[in-house]
Amino acid sequence: MRQQIAAANWKMNLTIQQGEALLDGVLNKAAALKPDQLAVFAVPFPYLQMAQQRIEGKQQVFISAQNCSNKKSGAYTGETSVEMLGSIGIQYVVLGHSERREYFQESNQVLAEKLDIALAANIRPIFCCGEPLDIREAGTQNAFVAKQLEESLYHLSAEQLQQVVIAYEPIWAIGTGKTASSAQAQEMHAFIRQQLAGKYGQEVAGNISILYGGSVKAANAAEIFGQPDVDGGLVGGASLVVDEFVAIIAALKG
Ligand code: PEP
Repeated sequence: MRQQIAAANWKMNLTIQQGEALLDGVLNKAAALKPDQLAVFAVPFPYLQMAQQRIEGKQQVFISAQNCSNKKSGAYTGETSVEMLGSIGIQYVVLGHSERREYFQESNQVLAEKLDIALAANIRPIFCCGEPLDIREAGTQNAFVAKQLEESLYHLSAEQLQQVVIAYEPIWAIGTGKTASSAQAQEMHAFIRQQLAGKYGQEVAGNISILYGGSVKAANAAEIFGQPDVDGGLVGGASLVVDEFVAIIAALKG
């Protein structure tokens, strides 16, 4: 059974005191996770250790970085290596979020390097893909996403791929309040799984968790997560509100 995952993306929000209160609030209120369910919190770099300490002893709860360097170490001022993340126990990293692609020019090729370096360090990537509005309006979203998968993922072995979590995030739905319909999400998730099956086989594709991201909130999570190929969500805005994210965790299948 593939894992059902509620992943919070705090982005560049909150002070550390606010982050502590949010994390404690969610951890105290959320119901116990079932064996195939995970909660992941992608927090800003300066809060990773605080968050890691607060989840100690919690089952199926993980802290994630929001990015990492594609370089191992060295003279890269301002960058954070996977070795640094591993040295404080971090096991997840979000890669290729559309904000990183847009504002920091992260290409499919650079993301392929980041995937390699994270996997080599035993850090699970949450790899984001998804099309902008003009591509959706032109009806070419499948080809757009297929290219992102091909250029960043398809050099991986089947064993490596099974460590990757994919997050489909249509850019027009991120932070806009405009959610893809559950039918649109299911259609793209099924397409992604079919692409992976074509490259790696049905069994491998069936093991990959594919999360939906884009204005997920308590009110729509159950319907979206209820789709057969949607395995949870990557959540921005609503992950900053205790009761919203607790309800989103509760909406996971399983
Ligand atoms: C995100 O940041 O990945 C995201 C999906 O944001 P929001 O939930 O706010 O649309």
